[in-house]
Amino acid sequence: MKINALVAHAATSPLSTDQIALRPLQQQDVTIEVLYCGVCHSDLHMARNEWAVSRYPLVPGHEIVGRVIDVGNQVSRFAPGDIVGVGVMVDACRECHFCQNQAEQYCEEGFTPTYNGIDKYTGENTWGGYAQQVIVDQDFVVSVPDNLPLAGVAPLLCAGVTVWSPLRHFGVKAGDKVGVVGLGGLGHMAVKLASALGAEVTLFTTSPQKGVDAKRLGAKQVVVSHDAEQMAACQTSLDLIIDCVAASHDLNPYLATLKTNGRLVLVGIPETPHTSPAITPMVFRRLSISGSSIGSIKETQEMLDFCGQHGITSDIELLSGENIETAFTRMLNGDVKYRFVIDIHATRWSR
Ligand code: NAP
Ligand code: ZN
Ligand code: ZN
Repeated sequence: MKINALVAHAATSPLSTDQIALRPLQQQDVTIEVLYCGVCHSDLHMARNEWAVSRYPLVPGHEIVGRVIDVGNQVSRFAPGDIVGVGVMVDACRECHFCQNQAEQYCEEGFTPTYNGIDKYTGENTWGGYAQQVIVDQDFVVSVPDNLPLAGVAPLLCAGVTVWSPLRHFGVKAGDKVGVVGLGGLGHMAVKLASALGAEVTLFTTSPQKGVDAKRLGAKQVVVSHDAEQMAACQTSLDLIIDCVAASHDLNPYLATLKTNGRLVLVGIPETPHTSPAITPMVFRRLSISGSSIGSIKETQEMLDFCGQHGITSDIELLSGENIETAFTRMLNGDVKYRFVIDIHATRWSR
């Protein structure tokens, strides 16, 4: 079956509306009518081939909220009418140590990404959520709490879980001092979720005008990262930092704000790598640097349930799909409050 989608045909051309064929519904599959899809900076990296792995044509989108409209005959967990979410993964090997322990995002074979992966049934590209429908195995579909506005839920499926996973994995608890670098899609969710867990949050930003918002979102303190005096004032004060910046930058000033035994968690994936930080202070203060990849399906469901209990969603700007390139440009300029979400029903699919 063919559906309308926003398609990238090359790294250098804008996305355009086109038709794509979804795989035939399999026994374990759920067909989802997409209602909203968040615009993650990864979509921009991929549309422009900044990670040198893009295969075209490519349909971005891995922050999907939609309504189930059909299910395969072995689907037990979902029924037509259910409101569900799909994030960054749509499959994994299911047999390796990580899959067996509910950490599919670290699958030894590599998880199948929602877009730009290989569909195991068709051998073709997987298609993301900048589209009218997606077909996904039920094991990679999550339930959406019924008390949250759906457009604001979409970004939780990637931005939310990507910061939730390290907060939980590294045991952040009430009273901990947590730094967040960059108030974008991931960063604003990190501020909200860390403060809802009871942590005292310091936001580092290159955009002083975001300070008021950061405090409204839950930050106790805002530090402008290019202001040496402000940076010096928070030396050795933090337990853990989540760095959400999409561009390469100097890590040393952030390591200096960690207490002894502190940890810098990198979730941003810049096109060019960060230069190595100075090792001596890391050695003498037993500092750690970690990466962290999205979160498992189990963590995604836990995060959504937590958001339901605490009334947390993303701060969004809704857009119609034909304006996607404007959204990409504004995102590059750090000019989004704080996540674009495509209203799929409002999108005009003219070709
Ligand atoms: P975003 O909305 O564009 O936010 C990035 C923020 O970083 C900006 O708002 C800005 O915040 C700051 N920033 C951007 N360019 C900067 C520069 N040159 N110097 C200093 N700060 C800069 O992006 P996002 O969607 O949150 O994604 C962030 C990164 O995480 C991307 O690289 C994305 O691919 C990656 N990501 C990783 C995972 C994972 O599993 N690890 C999952 C999703 C996304 P201020 O204005 O406050 O400085
Ligand atoms: Zn993403
Ligand atoms: Zn696996």
